[in-house]
Amino acid sequence: MQNITIAIDGFSSTGKSTIAKQLAKHLGYIYVDTGAMYRAVTLFTMRNGFIDSEHFDVVALVSKLNEVDISFTFNVELGFAEVYLNGENIEKEIRTLEVSSFVSKVAAIPEVRYQLVKQQQQMGKDKGVVMDGRDIGTVVFPYAELKLFMTASAEKRARRRYDELIDRGDKVTYEDVLRNVQERDYIDTHREDSPLVKADDAIEIDNSDLTLESQFEKVLELVNTTLDKL
Ligand code: C5P
Repeated sequence: MQNITIAIDGFSSTGKSTIAKQLAKHLGYIYVDTGAMYRAVTLFTMRNGFIDSEHFDVVALVSKLNEVDISFTFNVELGFAEVYLNGENIEKEIRTLEVSSFVSKVAAIPEVRYQLVKQQQQMGKDKGVVMDGRDIGTVVFPYAELKLFMTASAEKRARRRYDELIDRGDKVTYEDVLRNVQERDYIDTHREDSPLVKADDAIEIDNSDLTLESQFEKVLELVNTTLDKL
């Protein structure tokens, strides 16, 4: 059977990575979490002291971008690829609310996007890939055979993200998580370079009231219809 490219975009915490991982496992495809790549650059930016709540030294970050090496290594136990920054596994560090609070500012920098988009296009060049993010169906793979655009109410999304962070043992409040989700949505949809928009040919899925099983069934049907048309 022919391999296709599946692009999944949408707002923060809409369960993009959950459905992407399910699909990749089912189809035997590669899964690429592009949000993890922007989070990795953000961690690099924070560790170098280029960003904090008061300042963001974009020039310094851009001049050091050639020192950022992001890679993925499949973890058999977890069943997905974990992200590495210059050889260090940073999968846990990048999921904190602190990284979330800076990531959209870092992701708005054109030089950062240019470097990461190039790498993403390279990773998906042979198809057989499920990639999730904000600009996959519009910029990274505008010719993807299947494009999904995920939405859900901000409250539902914040509740899911809050539960995830609490499960990990992070000390956060629901209000802080909701504020972060809304702030990232705002920056992601209003930035000049590759703003988050639904591609004209993307299929919108509002999963506010869908169970994981019914969402997976629905999406798998779309995949099969796409494959049948090839
Ligand atoms: O998907 P996730 O929530 O981990 O993404 C973190 C942030 O990275 C997003 O809020 C967005 O600012 C940025 N991002 C992006 N383009 C992508 C993926 C993520 O700008 N393709």
